[in-house]
Amino acid sequence: TTRVLWFRRDLRLSDHPALAAAAAEGEVVGLFVVDPRLWDGAGPARRAWVAASVRALQDATGNALVVRFGDPAVVVPEVAAAAGASAVHVTAETTPGGRARDARVAAALAERGMVGQPDGTPYAVAPGSVRTGQGTAYQVFTPFARAWRAHGWDDPLPAASVEWRRMRNDGAATERLTTALKLAPPAMPAAGEDGARARWRAFLDAGLDDYAEGRDRPAQDLTSRMSPYLKVGAVHPRRLLADLADRRGDGVDRFVTELAWREFYADVLWHRPESAWRDLRPLAIPYDDPGDALDAWRTGHTGYPLVDAGMRQLLHEGWMHNRVRMITASFLTKDLHAWWPAGARHFLDHLVDGDLASNNHGWQWVAGTGTDAAPYFRVFNPVGQGKKLDPDGSYVRRWVPELAHLEGAAAHEPWRHSEGYDHGYPARIVDHDAERKVALERYSAR
Ligand code: FAD
Repeated sequence: TTRVLWFRRDLRLSDHPALAAAAAEGEVVGLFVVDPRLWDGAGPARRAWVAASVRALQDATGNALVVRFGDPAVVVPEVAAAAGASAVHVTAETTPGGRARDARVAAALAERGMVGQPDGTPYAVAPGSVRTGQGTAYQVFTPFARAWRAHGWDDPLPAASVEWRRMRNDGAATERLTTALKLAPPAMPAAGEDGARARWRAFLDAGLDDYAEGRDRPAQDLTSRMSPYLKVGAVHPRRLLADLADRRGDGVDRFVTELAWREFYADVLWHRPESAWRDLRPLAIPYDDPGDALDAWRTGHTGYPLVDAGMRQLLHEGWMHNRVRMITASFLTKDLHAWWPAGARHFLDHLVDGDLASNNHGWQWVAGTGTDAAPYFRVFNPVGQGKKLDPDGSYVRRWVPELAHLEGAAAHEPWRHSEGYDHGYPARIVDHDAERKVALERYSAR
């Protein structure tokens, strides 16, 4: 018999339970649907990264992947019926939008006498399955992470042998992919499973031993940069966890904990879908409309070197270092007093790893409206953090050419140097010390 494998956040061939289940039944139509509702709502970086990842998957299937454009509730049953398939296999989706869409598609398939068959999850442990002794969801990270490790996960699957069934692509879909690639950020990573594997090996060889310390140094490339690959499923987290299983050290523990954050935020979103765009724990303080300052923040012209370096790295690579994500987010929410969704939207538009759960809960964590006991009154000092995390200023000089003439830590404080503004770097748009006081006053007036 023929089966359809509808690819979504699982753009890989190896270690793929849904693909293995489909292939075990006979020939497989591999399908990717460009859904205008998602496609038009995604920013240019995410579209480009998905397009590059779909192209890599197409190559890996020997060009057998079928790409179609349209509403999946129409397109998926159409393709399945045309192929004479009895079932459509998917990796189960857990986001609020994904679940609603999958319910619509399953209903449309059922009308035509076909079934939707979910297998697997984009996470090591499916969101919703780690529970407290009382069967409730975990509210904070540390006990979740402990229970998540105790729950455990499956080993990666051996590669399935797949007999692909070819069908025609449609022009509207291929055109969307081509256009998206033209608008890619200048320095996007190499897409696909091969890209993921190469980067992961480089991290195991050169980053992992120093990860526990080095992960906080944005100038050094010591983090894994697996986030874009995890986002589209070019690699599954259980593969990374399996590769770490017989290694020991602080770096390994720390890395597994970071993966647990990804799983935790997906779990929170599963239990509380409204937390995507609403405060989990509202602070009940007034927020400002930052006006032109929002543009200065978006383009990296706030006059605070570390903030500007991060925002420019985001536009150039579609990625930003984790610590700098925290500092730039703190600047928008605490120095410019904006409500976090304005920043979360910009990040989602420009990150290749842009992910509703990790991004929006990361923003809520910084804003102080989120899950954990992160003190909401903590305001990052962008200058102090710069001198601490980038002591020789090289991260700032890499991303802010107007400061390239300032040596060492001087790049963090152009206002202290007579030649600091000689190359067009903007003056500070706000006074951090004054805005910090404003933020704290708002908190104490609640
Ligand atoms: P590594 O340090 O190598 O970590 C390994 C993996 O662990 C990452 O690939 C990621 O999957 C996971 N991870 C690490 N830290 C976190 C975290 N704090 N929350 C959730 N997962 C984590 N991550 C995204 O994947 N997509 C986003 O859209 C996103 N937006 C963020 C927005 C803000 C404001 C903040 C503070 C953090 C955000 N993060 C997001 C989390 C984190 O910054 C990135 O996962 C990390 O920088 C990715 O780089 P890496 O793969 O080299 O990380």
